[in-house]
Amino acid sequence: MKKTDIQCPECAAGYRRIELVSKRGQAGVYRCQVCNQVLEMFDGSTEVAYRLTVVPERMFE
Ligand SMILES: [Zn+2]
Repeated sequence: MKKTDIQCPECAAGYRRIELVSKRGQAGVYRCQVCNQVLEMFDGSTEVAYRLTVVPERMFE
């Protein structure tokens, strides 16, 4: 299991990305939950899960 922290280049939301290399996932894309920017495209060879960890401040303005 690989864990990485990534940040949306568009709105600066923070995500924890967890990749399960021993499992096959679904091909597709993951979009930022805040601004809908595409953060990653998956080929389905591994299972990748994202969790929103940092909500950008401008959401509360
Ligand atoms: Zn975003």
